[in-house]
Amino acid sequence: MRPLSARELLDVWEVGAAQALAQRALLLLAAANPDRSDAALARLSLGQRDRQLAILREWLFGPQLISVAGCPNCGERLQLTLSSQELYPATGEMPEAIALRIDDYDIRYRLPDSTDLLALTQANTIADSRDVLLQRCLLNVSCAEQAQPIETLPAQLIEAVVAHMAQADPQADVQLDLVCPACHHHWLAAFDVMAFFWKEIDDWAHRILNEIHVIASAYGWSEAAILALSPARRQLYLDLIEA
Ligand SMILES: [Zn+2]
Repeated sequence: MRPLSARELLDVWEVGAAQALAQRALLLLAAANPDRSDAALARLSLGQRDRQLAILREWLFGPQLISVAGCPNCGERLQLTLSSQELYPATGEMPEAIALRIDDYDIRYRLPDSTDLLALTQANTIADSRDVLLQRCLLNVSCAEQAQPIETLPAQLIEAVVAHMAQADPQADVQLDLVCPACHHHWLAAFDVMAFFWKEIDDWAHRILNEIHVIASAYGWSEAAILALSPARRQLYLDLIEA
């Protein structure tokens, strides 16, 4: 993976604007990984995907993620300063399939990836989403060497498999452990790096297009020429124009 130039990021932003978040994630990864196929990138587990996005984001916007959360008990606004390295530490390679035995059941599953997220956009409810995910990710389940259809599995077994999946790919569902400074309420809040990253990209794109407009209006330079300037030089020209 390599960092994206301003030109490349703006292209991804433009194409991704009309797409779902799962597709935007794949656009970013494809632009940053020209040596990897789209299919291979779509097959990264969601935890691996999010770690890659966190690294790419750090190269563009720095190691800190500044976010806000509202206390669900008293409504106090918390300013959060998060570190992408702490949220997404390095992990080893993920296996293609994971085998486990629970009670008398032998189970093989694979970790959810971007192809599953794209399939889920058709599901109507959370319960539907879960069924779709299980149908796609449970590769086989057998009991006493008899294959077991997923619909017949006990609810407890499904719960245990879902919990195992979450543990096997913890970066797919990062939870922030928060305490309210006003009322001391304690809660867990999900952190979605892709949603966070896209908001930053969207803000950046609007800012940079505005800067291009100001500089092009003053000097008549092309969009490509202004985008190719380093942020420091661009700012210097903006300061001169405003002076
Ligand atoms: Zn509170």
